[in-house]
Amino acid sequence: MSVNHDWNFSDAPEHWSAGFCLSLLGELPDLLWVKDLDGRYRFANAAFATFFGLDPGGIVGRTDREILPADLARSFEQHDRDCLAQAELHPIEQAVMGPESREPRWLEIFQRPLRNPSGRRWCILGRGRDISAARRAAQSAWDTETRFHQLFERVDGVSVQGYDRNRTVIYWNPASEKVYGYRPEEAIGRQLEDLIIPDPMRDAVVGSVNSWLAGAPAAPAGEMTLRRSDGSPVHLFSSHVMLQGPNGEPQMYCLDIDLTEQKRMTEELERYRHHLEELVLARTAEISEARERAEAANRAKSAFLANMSHEIRSPMNAILGLTYLLGREATSDSQRERLGRIQTAGNHLLSIINDILDISKIEAGHFRLESQPFSVTELFDQVHALIEEEIHARGLQFVCELDALPEVLAGDNTRLRQALLNYLGNAIKFTREGEIRLRARVLEAGERDLLLRFEVEDSGIGIAPEDLAQLFQPFTQVDTSATRGYGGTGLGLAITRRLAHLMGGEAGASSTPGKGSIFWFTARLGCSEVATRRAAGANGRLAPRASAPSDAERQLATRHRGARVLLADDSATNREVEVEILTAVGLMVEVAENGRRALEMASASPYDIILMDVQMPELDGLNATRLLRAQPEWRACPIIAMTASAFDDDRQRCLDAGMDDYLPKPVEPGRLYAKLLQWLTAAPARAPERAEEDVREASGFSELPQLKRLTDRVKVDVDFAL
Ligand code: ADP
Repeated sequence: MSVNHDWNFSDAPEHWSAGFCLSLLGELPDLLWVKDLDGRYRFANAAFATFFGLDPGGIVGRTDREILPADLARSFEQHDRDCLAQAELHPIEQAVMGPESREPRWLEIFQRPLRNPSGRRWCILGRGRDISAARRAAQSAWDTETRFHQLFERVDGVSVQGYDRNRTVIYWNPASEKVYGYRPEEAIGRQLEDLIIPDPMRDAVVGSVNSWLAGAPAAPAGEMTLRRSDGSPVHLFSSHVMLQGPNGEPQMYCLDIDLTEQKRMTEELERYRHHLEELVLARTAEISEARERAEAANRAKSAFLANMSHEIRSPMNAILGLTYLLGREATSDSQRERLGRIQTAGNHLLSIINDILDISKIEAGHFRLESQPFSVTELFDQVHALIEEEIHARGLQFVCELDALPEVLAGDNTRLRQALLNYLGNAIKFTREGEIRLRARVLEAGERDLLLRFEVEDSGIGIAPEDLAQLFQPFTQVDTSATRGYGGTGLGLAITRRLAHLMGGEAGASSTPGKGSIFWFTARLGCSEVATRRAAGANGRLAPRASAPSDAERQLATRHRGARVLLADDSATNREVEVEILTAVGLMVEVAENGRRALEMASASPYDIILMDVQMPELDGLNATRLLRAQPEWRACPIIAMTASAFDDDRQRCLDAGMDDYLPKPVEPGRLYAKLLQWLTAAPARAPERAEEDVREASGFSELPQLKRLTDRVKVDVDFAL
């Protein structure tokens, strides 16, 4: 290898053998160079040229900038300046990036200024050693050990412990102190079993650790509960790894994660959940108990209401019916006048009972509205007819104002009439002179329904503003003094408002004392298309049209004289009244005192119509109807319920049992006539005579052959029904 130099040896120390020295330096594996104070290379050995990839002949006489990349040249210039400036010199580690290498090579540089004998700085001597391999080795050692130790020393919540083959602690990171309660200096050098094992687990753990250290396969990670130095429990997720020590001896490292806090929170959550579940269960039980109690109370209330209604209506039927009959026979005016008063008092009593029952039913949530087709014009005609006499008697004017409306609407005609009559009755009661106006106006017109506003305006005594707000509360009247001049229960307005709510509307009033009042309510009513569909009813059959009561009596007497009526009623008085009313128009009446008897009679001979009481001993009207309807010959005969069970549900039960219609007691003769006329006119010809031998054979009711056939066919338990 050639040696390149540009050195004036006349300047060199005398004792140097320059040629010898330079050839020796040229062979050295380390990089050697000499630069003059201007930064020009005066000497560079072969190793220098090789390291930097330079042409050995192109170095001497040139500067760093001329032979090295710019970055590196700048660094070298700086090293030179430092070398000349500093008293103490340190090795410099210089990274050198090759043109293609991704990793730097590392050069350890020592530089020092050389002085000539006169002490003047003469040149810079540099030596460089390629330390890339050593650095890489150091880096990888740092990666595996230092880095992991740093990690274990700093990590929080993960305890790392090392044990040698004798289970002596050889490593204990600071986090282990938090987990087990021992500082590293307390733990290192002690036995595993002295530090962390509660008594019951000691032997098992020592046994496992010994077997792992002896080469048995390590157990999978898992949770366990140990104790801290203070005895408190610590819940861990623990795993361990087996390593080899410097001499190949086994070592065990444990990594434990402290889950005590999470476990506590989980358990607490679990407790809360349990507690919550218990609470929910307890509350659910309480609620269902309360609901059952409320339902039982509700059932009791409903049963009481139904019973009371029935018990009052039955005698009222007798009182009003007998009064009616006596009225027909009365010979003197004074008799007629007194009977008229009994009738008025009875009707008044009945209206009070009806009001009380209505409000109770509404408040108990048992009130159901009907939806039938009706015409508002007809409704106005009806109410006008009912109050006409009184209006006239009081010398008042009556005016009707009606918006253009569809001919047929769907709604509860009866309840609308009740609300209007209540307003009109009050208007008449509280108006001495002037006029009463009845109005219906359309507030909203939808495709399927209309919102109508009904108003009754009077020119009566009026109501003070402070009284007005209270009026729609039940039992509220303006004048509650003992000397009050007007009767009434104070229920009418409360019922009207509730009816309006049920009909999707509101109710209210405005008034000027001394001038008059306007009472109004709104109701949402179905439009004609809906109304017509509803009119067809569930079975698609239109009910026959009823005639006016007064006309019905005459028509019955002429067109249906001699028609056979079976009347089933357990009350002798009621039977007596009803027979009289029926025979008065020429009907042929036969009576049965209970449902069983009615069935027997129906089996024996045909009838044109059956009037059926509901509550009867032995066999009630509902079951009697079901049994009749199950026989083909009795399917078409009209059966009309005539009952003191006057609630909507009662009515529905009658229809469900197979009856065609329903008349609540007390039965008003005019309405009874109208119903009879309606159904007798619509009824088919009388059912054919039955085979008489069948009847004669029947010794007891349940032995009747028809019934026998019937029980087989429709699975009716006759004994149960009876
Ligand atoms: P009742 O008329 O049976 O007492 P209501 O609830 O129908 O019960 O009426 C309650 C009260 O409202 C009446 O007692 C009366 O004081 C007052 N009132 C109702 N309508 C009118 C009216 N048109 N003019 C004056 N006061 C009325």
